[in-house]
Amino acid sequence: MATKTDNRILKRLSEMEKEEGLPLLLQFYREIVLVHEAARKRIGAPEISLTAEAIRKRTEQGFPLLGYDDFNLDLEAVRDVFVRVIDVFSRYPRLFGEIPETLKKPGAEHLLTTRAIRAWFNGEKLPPALAAGISQALMGVIIQLTLKPWLAAYARTLIDSVKQERWRRSYCPVCGGRPDFAFLDRERGARWLLCSRCDSEWIFQRIECPYCGTRDRSALSFFTDEKELYRLNVCARCRGYLKIIDLRKTDDEVLLPLERLMTGEMDTRARREGYRLPA
Ligand SMILES: [Zn+2]
Ligand SMILES: [Zn+2]
Repeated sequence: MATKTDNRILKRLSEMEKEEGLPLLLQFYREIVLVHEAARKRIGAPEISLTAEAIRKRTEQGFPLLGYDDFNLDLEAVRDVFVRVIDVFSRYPRLFGEIPETLKKPGAEHLLTTRAIRAWFNGEKLPPALAAGISQALMGVIIQLTLKPWLAAYARTLIDSVKQERWRRSYCPVCGGRPDFAFLDRERGARWLLCSRCDSEWIFQRIECPYCGTRDRSALSFFTDEKELYRLNVCARCRGYLKIIDLRKTDDEVLLPLERLMTGEMDTRARREGYRLPA
């Protein structure tokens, strides 16, 4: 599934490049997808030790299927991807600022320790040595893009065992990540959230803020574009926002990970109106 998505993303990007040229952010993203493609070939399918019963129990109790201890990582391979991801980031200073020398010099991969990966996975503060000279948020994105091939491999293997109608929580049923994009499906306009970490998709209530949980209709509203293809859901209670694409309004193939990046104007608008993506 994600394999094909990556290939289709690369194909779409090269079509866009021929037609109108690629904005810097998408040039950067293409390089990241290529790093992920190479990693995916090395990783293969992950071994899952969860029984059907354990999956049922975790889902019922609201635990994501993948806790840090279930996550089988080859640290050497992870560090290799980390070096490649840093290299891509360091070639786009206009997007991210200068990457500190400490992260670019030989041996820098040893800063990415198991402890650091665990802290990132659990949403805790990253070790100071790793995030020296760089914001915690940017280092978080670098680690996320480093671990993405592994997270996506687990997501591909696990997502079908999630009983969607029984989950309906605000965090990812596979890895516990928060959503950062959503779509309304073609069948009945149901809202599906997209995980910011592993790209899993899960169904969620239309009238509920996925960040603060309010169902108060007077707090929830949305902006839309002329074609009503895109919506910006906003919450007056927690000031969070969520970008949504309404698949009922298009027959074109939609690549969600790409849509997430191509809708930067919506992020700008949301911030201008005083909303933010909750951490
Ligand atoms: Zn996830
Ligand atoms: Zn809210």
